[in-house]
Amino acid sequence: MTNDIWANVLTSLRTALGANNFSNWIEPLEFSRLSGGVATFHVPTNFIGNYVSQNFGDQIIYQMKQNGEQVQRLKFEVPDGVQKTVAPVAKTQAKAKTADNTPDASLDARFTFDTFVVGKPNELANAAARRVAEGGPVTFNPLFLYGGVGLGKTHLMHAIAHELQRRSPELNVLYLSAEQFMYRFITALRERKMMDFKQMFRSVDVLMVDDVQFIGGKDSTQEEFFHTFNALVDSQKQIIISADRAPGEIKDLEERIKSRLQCGLVVDLHPTDYELRLGILQSKVDVYAAQYPELVIAPGVLEFLAHRISTNVRVLEGALTRLFAFASLVGREITLELTQDCLSDVLKASDRKVTVEEIQRKVSEHYNIRLSDMIGPKRVRNYARPRQMAMYLAKHMTNRSLPEIGRRFGGRDHTTVMHGVRRIEELKTIDSQIADDLELLRRALEE
Ligand code: ADP
Ligand code: MG
Repeated sequence: MTNDIWANVLTSLRTALGANNFSNWIEPLEFSRLSGGVATFHVPTNFIGNYVSQNFGDQIIYQMKQNGEQVQRLKFEVPDGVQKTVAPVAKTQAKAKTADNTPDASLDARFTFDTFVVGKPNELANAAARRVAEGGPVTFNPLFLYGGVGLGKTHLMHAIAHELQRRSPELNVLYLSAEQFMYRFITALRERKMMDFKQMFRSVDVLMVDDVQFIGGKDSTQEEFFHTFNALVDSQKQIIISADRAPGEIKDLEERIKSRLQCGLVVDLHPTDYELRLGILQSKVDVYAAQYPELVIAPGVLEFLAHRISTNVRVLEGALTRLFAFASLVGREITLELTQDCLSDVLKASDRKVTVEEIQRKVSEHYNIRLSDMIGPKRVRNYARPRQMAMYLAKHMTNRSLPEIGRRFGGRDHTTVMHGVRRIEELKTIDSQIADDLELLRRALEE
């Protein structure tokens, strides 16, 4: 990338991010190089690098692409002369192999199994990924991981690659995004290097293709992908694929590819639940606490964030990073108040105002009863339990007081509401069906 192009990117970034963000975070960056789809910048501190990567990374990549650059990932380095520079991905070889086994620059060093927090929503995906990462005979091929944005697909794939390279450094592990696959394919076509291309892809031991939904509709790329895929499966090489949805649901993907993708193990990453979010926050805080011992977090802040930010892990992480940046700038303890101030926009965005009426409607649909029966006087279990569920959700998801909730349930007394809420609190610890229903309903209502 030339300096002229970078200057154009800077101009667009100033407009996109605003003058304040621009001078605080973008100006300190010094563009260093672009190679193998990785754009490297020098930054004064790791903290700035992390912050920029989390908060503005997507924007920077987007603007660079708008200016015609092929960039998939950003890398931030503190040029202290001590830090080892990492070799970029070799163009024609699957992996840059050097004597000291330099780590693959397309892999994020932080995305390992150690840093992946496991909870109910991702335990299957994690177990499958770990199994594949052990190497050994290929039992399911491909491993197909899918789930919504920011739920850890890329993290798990990088973790597999790291682990495989740690256990068997001689293995040729290739990780790339479907876009990169497509780009390399098109370049090979244009430069008449299809033989090299085919040979390179067929010589890998493990192939990982991230975000495969992007090849939908790209016919010649699909064709080549299909052949690569088959050649590798035939020679018992492990393939790992990710996508944002199940194979059958990828738009404009050939049927034969869909069915090929389905013939291994298909596992999905479910949306996070409160416990997982809290666990992730806790683990990030532990990492930061080691780096910035001066930071103090008041009790309840993490619980608050885990409760309020339920979109995806990336947003959650971004919020935390911003909070730390802010607190360290102003040199204050991170209190609930500071959190609300600093993250008001994020909180507002995920702040859906749920009404008692909506809750009643959703719950009655879920249990297949009539709304009038939920609100009405009948006390049979079929109506009473859903009613209590709705009361519980109303208590936890709205700001209504118990008497107000009671009034909306056919003029019931607040003690009845309190009893209902308590009953569900007891039940959800001993009845997993109830706990699951609650989580499901809460999620549906938060959407
Ligand atoms: P996806 O590829 O599914 O869109 P990523 O793997 O890029 O999502 O994850 C987004 C961010 O959230 C990454 O920084 C990742 O490390 C983090 N993350 C996601 N899930 C977890 C988890 N279970 N534990 C720790 N970090 C996670
Ligand atoms: Mg991803």
